[in-house]
Order: sequence, then C-alpha cells, then structure tokens
Amino acid sequence: MSGLLLTDQGTTMSTDEPSTSTEMAEARERYRQERAKRLRPEGLGQYEELTGDYADFDRDPFVEPGFTRDAIVEAPDVVIVGGGFAGMMTAINLGRRGIRNVRIVEKAGDFGGTWYWNRYPGCMCDVESYTYLPLLEETGYMPTEKYASATEIFSYCQLLGRHFDLYPLALFQTEMDTAEWDERAQRWQVRTSRGDELSARFLVTAGGILHKAKLPGIPGIDQFEGDAFHTSRWDYGVTGGGPGQPMDELGGKKVGIIGTGATAVQAVPQLAEAAQELYVFQRTPSPVGVRDNAPTDEAWFASLEPGWHEERVRNFTQAVTGRKPDRDLVGDGWTKVMWEDTQTAVDDPELAEELEASDFETMQELRQRVERIVEDPEVADRLKPWYGKHCKRVCFHDEYLPSFNRPNVHLVDTDGRGVEAVTATGVVANGVEYPLDVLVFASGFEVTTDLEQRLGFDPKGRGGVAMSERWHDGAHTLHGVLSAEFPNMLMISLVQAGFGTNFLHFLSESARHVAWLVATCIDEGITTIEATPEAEEEWLKVLLGVATKIASYSGNCTPGYYNSEQQRDAKAARNLVYTGSLLDYAGYLERWRDEGTFTGTKVVRADRS
Ligand code: NDP
Repeated sequence: MSGLLLTDQGTTMSTDEPSTSTEMAEARERYRQERAKRLRPEGLGQYEELTGDYADFDRDPFVEPGFTRDAIVEAPDVVIVGGGFAGMMTAINLGRRGIRNVRIVEKAGDFGGTWYWNRYPGCMCDVESYTYLPLLEETGYMPTEKYASATEIFSYCQLLGRHFDLYPLALFQTEMDTAEWDERAQRWQVRTSRGDELSARFLVTAGGILHKAKLPGIPGIDQFEGDAFHTSRWDYGVTGGGPGQPMDELGGKKVGIIGTGATAVQAVPQLAEAAQELYVFQRTPSPVGVRDNAPTDEAWFASLEPGWHEERVRNFTQAVTGRKPDRDLVGDGWTKVMWEDTQTAVDDPELAEELEASDFETMQELRQRVERIVEDPEVADRLKPWYGKHCKRVCFHDEYLPSFNRPNVHLVDTDGRGVEAVTATGVVANGVEYPLDVLVFASGFEVTTDLEQRLGFDPKGRGGVAMSERWHDGAHTLHGVLSAEFPNMLMISLVQAGFGTNFLHFLSESARHVAWLVATCIDEGITTIEATPEAEEEWLKVLLGVATKIASYSGNCTPGYYNSEQQRDAKAARNLVYTGSLLDYAGYLERWRDEGTFTGTKVVRADRS
C-alpha cells in the first residue's frame, strides 16, 4: 500500500516502496520491545496530582495576588463550571436560546481555559486555526496564521467573551467548593471558594479536557531547590521574557525539561535558543512531521462562502478519521498522516496486512525525517518513535528536531525508563545526576482519571451520594453527558464521550447538545432529567463495542494517555472514550435530539410533579 507524505520542502513524496516482510517483521518486534520496556504496573498511578505537597505547582502565575470580591447569593438557571471553550460555547448557545441567567465559575483570572493556562514559549495550536477556532463566521475574525499562537487564541477567547457579552456572567478566580442536589428545591446548591451561594436549576461541568496538570511521581520531586514549574504554569519571572519574547534570564542557566510530548516539542526550540545548556529528558520520542506554518492569505479568506467553517471542520474530522472526503480541504500534515484509519480491525487478512504496512510506512517516513534533520546519527536514532501512528498524538514542528543539532542541547534518552529521581540540585537519569538551575515539567495532563478528581469537587446527587461513591467502579453516563442520580447535571468531558484530533469540533458538538438539553427542558417544562441506569449500561456496550475494534492495535501501543497508560482494570474499562470517529459520536447525539423522546432518561415534568 502506498501513501503521500509532505516533505520538508512542502512537496509531496510518494512512499510507493513496498515494505519487505523482513522489514515488517523487524518493526513488529521492535514495537513489541519498546512497548514492553515502558509498561508500568502502576499505570495511571505513576503520576502525582498538583495538590498536597505539590500544590504550589498549581499556583496561578498570571494574576496579581490579593484579589478579593464580595460573595454573591443568586439563583441562576445554569451554573457552568469552567470558562474555557466548552463553557463559553455552552453559554453562547444558551444565550442564543434566550437563556442569560447563567453563571460561569472559573478558577483562572479570565476566559480561555487551556489557552489561559498554557503560555509556555512556542505554544501554538497544531490544528489549523481556520478549523480549530470556533464561530469565525459569526465574529468575522481572520486568524493571522495557519497555525495560531497561544497568545492569539487566548485573545480570541477574550474577543468571544466581549462579542457574546459573557464577561458579566463570569466569576473569575473562583473555585467550586461543593455542589449538592437539593431534592426539596429541585436545584443544585453550589458553594464557591469566594463564599458564593448559587442555587441553580442546571449544573454544567465543562472543566476542561486537558485541564488538570500532572507530575511524574518520582522520588524527590519536591526537593529540588532551583526553580521548577509545569509547562501550564510557565514562570516568566524565572525565565524572563514572555510569550513571543526572548527569555532573557536563561542565558547563564542550565535548564532541564522532563517529557517529550506535544508540549515539549513546541517549548524545546525556544528553550534551546535561550538557555546556556538544555537537557531534554526523554522517555518516549514523539513522531514529528512537517508544520509549514504561513500567514493567512487574506484574499483566500475573504473568498470563503457562508457555511465554509462547518464544512471545513467536518471535512478535517472526516480526513483524520479515515473517512476520506472527496476533497481534502485542509491538506496539511494531519490529513496526510491520518488520511487512512489503520487501527480499526478488518476481517480481510490481506487488507489487515496492507493497513499494517501502510501504518509502518507512515511512521517510517517520520523516522526518516529525523535522520534527514538530526546530524548526530546516535541522537537521531534515539529520537525515532517505534510505535503505530494512532498510539500517541503525532506532532508537527519544523524547529524541534533541528534543536538537537545545537551544541547546547543534550538529549538524555532514558530508553523507556524515565527519569529516576529529582535531587536538591538536579535530575537523575540512567544513574547520572544532571545539575540544573531550572526544571520544567512537560509531563502532561490527566485525561481519563476520575472526573471528580479532574473537576476538583465531588458533586453530590440524590440522597447526598457523591459522584466518587456512585462511580466507585468508573463512569456511568449516557453519551458521557447525563448520569443517573445526578439530575440536571450535564457533563462535557472526554470520558464516555467523543474524542478527536480537533478538540474544538468535539467541544462544539457537546456544547450544542448540552445547551439544547437545557433549553428544551426549560421550554417543555421539564423539572428534572437524568440518565436511567439501564441506558448507561447500553451506552457502555456501545463504547465497548467500538473499543473492541481497536483493542488489538491499541494493546500493541506504548503506554500513554491515549490508552490510559495501558491500565487494564474495571475502572479503566468504564472511564473510556468513544474511540470511533467523532462524526459517529456526534451522529448519536444528533439523532437522539432529533427523536425528541429523551430515550434512556428519566424525565419529570412540572405538570406531573
Ligand atoms: P503528554 O502526556 O503528551 O506528554 C507527557 C510527557 O512526559 C511524555 O513524553 C511522557 O513520556 C513524559 N514523562 C512522563 N513521566 C516521565 C518520566 N518519569 N520521565 C521522563 N518523561 C516522562 O503531555 P503534553 O503536555 O506534551 O501533551 C498533552 C496533550 O496536550 C497533547 O497530546 C495534545 O492533545 C495537547 N497539546 C496540544 C497542542 C496543540 O497544539 N493543540 C500543543 C501541546 C499539547 P511517555 O510518552 O513515555 O509517557
């Protein structure tokens, strides 16, 4: 099987060379070995939360200390937890349906969610801005570049806040303390860290997909006496500079960065420029394809016809989930690499072999890209990813690999073991201590851990039963949105819900669904809605049915958040995402709404209460 890949020159090259069966057999064996090296019995438990001893890592470096305000007592129709894209778009959709008695509770000092927190140097979106940024036709905003910087996306969130008049709804620098269902009042009673008391008819949890930062649970992590921070809490007070400005305080410093995922791929080139010495501690290399960013062609943007945005969003998701639209509208690294779904099992053994070979060739091309760019063959060898293309998020960047040609950049590859310890003065890897002044954790976020852990509060439903109790064996939901015993609580999270390369496509679909539910309940005089336990089990069967189709592929992957660190227990089996195409997941929601019968829910109407 052949494929076309974008080269560094921006042209396409054919990978028509068939892989020999020997090559394939060797690759299969190499994939097996690399996976085996990385399996850890503790699975998700290898990471630490940013609480307790590590709470300081979670401090918001972007607000002035000492903020105070008076507590409020209100009875809104809806409390939305989270002011990122999901929360904002839910509020926008509610506003369109005339529902404005809404409060948005947000821990940060502004809207933006991920784009508020992630201000690390080089931070940008790896999905093209014309597809990623929502509501471009409504706001008339033209992104300045094909791949927008985090600064621009954060500004766009603020623009959305102004355009749709969301600022008056927001309670910033405010965290949820408790949310408890009040049977008598038929409302959620919410208390916040600022003493607010909100009595809400609906509670929408939109706490973010990659919101809760995690740290590797390695000995001594809190002992480091230099400066240390997580990438999502970048401390420009230490590094100097700011997003898009040179970090002028690192010139005489030894900097270490732990992790080589999508975040590190963007931050390393900037650190390489600024630091005296940079040590990149690698457990598993990321595949890194061509980025090829460019300013927006204004004439092209102006020529787009109404309806272009939704078409482009769907076209991209089709392309990256193997649905092969007639025309690839985006035509970038993502659509080239993900054009074919090689993870879903097929019955025909010959086709299965072809798909495996195709996946191998795609990854081989990405490995060859490393060889072409990185001059030291030994370093290049260690930067090559040995796993399938669906195993981890593929990265696209044009400066990451060249960074390793700089004399001040040192790759510390741990051959799958990870760093061993942190000391007062540095990091220990492969039995060697590397002295450091600054330590950056690019160690990622919690994705499939318990929802209440990621939300930072434990909602109490009927009878005061907490989510952590009812979900002690993992999540119970209908579509990832409604849950039994938690009336009028609507969730936007990946757990038991859709997943896709373009998170904004997922969030847009979810926000539309949640706002539809709230507005329809209000319109139709529905006092409460919740899933039935039977429908939750039916939905779980759907999720497991889809997951089964990729189980063999996924089981052969190196661990990571895509596969819950290969953790295989009853809880992980429930805390799964819808692994099929996001278009199929969105189809479930749409058909369900169109039916208008609230199938699988328990609904109580005002006239029957
Ligand atoms: P990831 O979870 O992808 O990466 C964490 C990194 O930390 C991995 O390389 C992991 O290695 C490494 N690690 C963990 N423990 C250790 C250890 N003990 N020693 C050494 N290394 C360790 O997090 P990211 O923040 O990079 O990315 C998370 C997600 O955020 C992305 O997948 C993407 O969805 C999103 N993102 C999106 C961007 C965009 O442009 N849209 C940009 C940046 C992030 P291992 O692989 O072995 O587990």
